[in-house]
Amino acid sequence: MPNRMDRGFYKYQQEFEQKALEVLRSGWYVLGREVSSFEEEFAAYTGADYCVGLASGLDALWLAFRILGIGAGDEVLVQGNTYIASVMGITINGATPVFVEPDEHFGIDVRQLEEKITGRTKAVLAVHLYGIPCRMDEIVSFCKEHNLYLVEDCAQSHGAYYGDRMTGTFGDIGCFSFYPSKNLGAFGDGGAVVVRDEALARDFRTYRNYGSEVRYYNKVVGTNSRLDELQAGLLRVRLRHIKEITEERQEIAAYYAEHLTNPLLRLPELPEGTTGVWHQYVVRCEERDRLIEYLNEREIGTIIHYPIPPHLAEAYQYLGHHKGDFPVTEHLADTVLSLPIYNGMTREELDYVIDALNAFR
Ligand SMILES: *Cc1c(COP(=O)(O)O)cnc(C)c1O
Repeated sequence: MPNRMDRGFYKYQQEFEQKALEVLRSGWYVLGREVSSFEEEFAAYTGADYCVGLASGLDALWLAFRILGIGAGDEVLVQGNTYIASVMGITINGATPVFVEPDEHFGIDVRQLEEKITGRTKAVLAVHLYGIPCRMDEIVSFCKEHNLYLVEDCAQSHGAYYGDRMTGTFGDIGCFSFYPSKNLGAFGDGGAVVVRDEALARDFRTYRNYGSEVRYYNKVVGTNSRLDELQAGLLRVRLRHIKEITEERQEIAAYYAEHLTNPLLRLPELPEGTTGVWHQYVVRCEERDRLIEYLNEREIGTIIHYPIPPHLAEAYQYLGHHKGDFPVTEHLADTVLSLPIYNGMTREELDYVIDALNAFR
């Protein structure tokens, strides 16, 4: 029972196909009406003032730090258990990631921020991992107090709320990915940032287009990172249904929470006052690897998000970290397991997974 992303397509098949044909027949494929409409609609959805469409979530992250002027010699605080792309957004610019252990909700542990700050710290990157919001009140005050930028990695948290505000709107820049498996998924790669500041939005538009605002006048060394018309059009279709898409995931998560009774599993919990969107439903199990095998025998596919924490990745050996440096992060890497959760998952499929999990000894 792998992640059935096709179900999310077939549910709105006619609308997707109609939009795809419309874009193909329009004769305009890059930076046109679909992108600008999507940007307006996504900004309105999140409650941000501006949205700029980009080619991927990683581009959103690295361009965010580039535009904030964070590079060599600067440090960014980020939780150690995140997906490695969050960290690459920092290191592509030559800046140094300073890992902070996660709290019991997988978010950056605000109690540890104070210990990790140095004279070189320029920003905090808060990752709303698995669609569970970080504790934004405390993070925002910490950043204000220390005059730090706040960037949010919302690649897994489209539509998640902390209090009555959506994730992505607390910091200076909210970074989104529309990779197909994300809660708001395209049919290829895509990303975006949301911002409050008009000048920042203009910078992203400039950087995504070779550093040029006016054709053939290049202000900065930019890149090619444009959300294309086809993806933007298809994302507009998906965005029309995002409420239903999100609620379906919340119902699956609630059903898991209600029916999983096996004491060998520790279920995920949201921080108080937040609304999660369950990009993943991540349980913890001390006998995780035996559990995976048991589930495989029953044809239940699970994934580990993520088996190797960034500080132990080969790519980041140059940072000089070792096993044992971040025990909370490392223990999570050894015990987390993402259960099947996808739009279009049937009640029978869910019951099958739950019965198997509850029978695991
Ligand atoms: C998916 C993801 C990214 C990267 O997004 P892409 O669009 O794949 O580049 C970054 N951070 C997190 C937490 C992600 O899940």
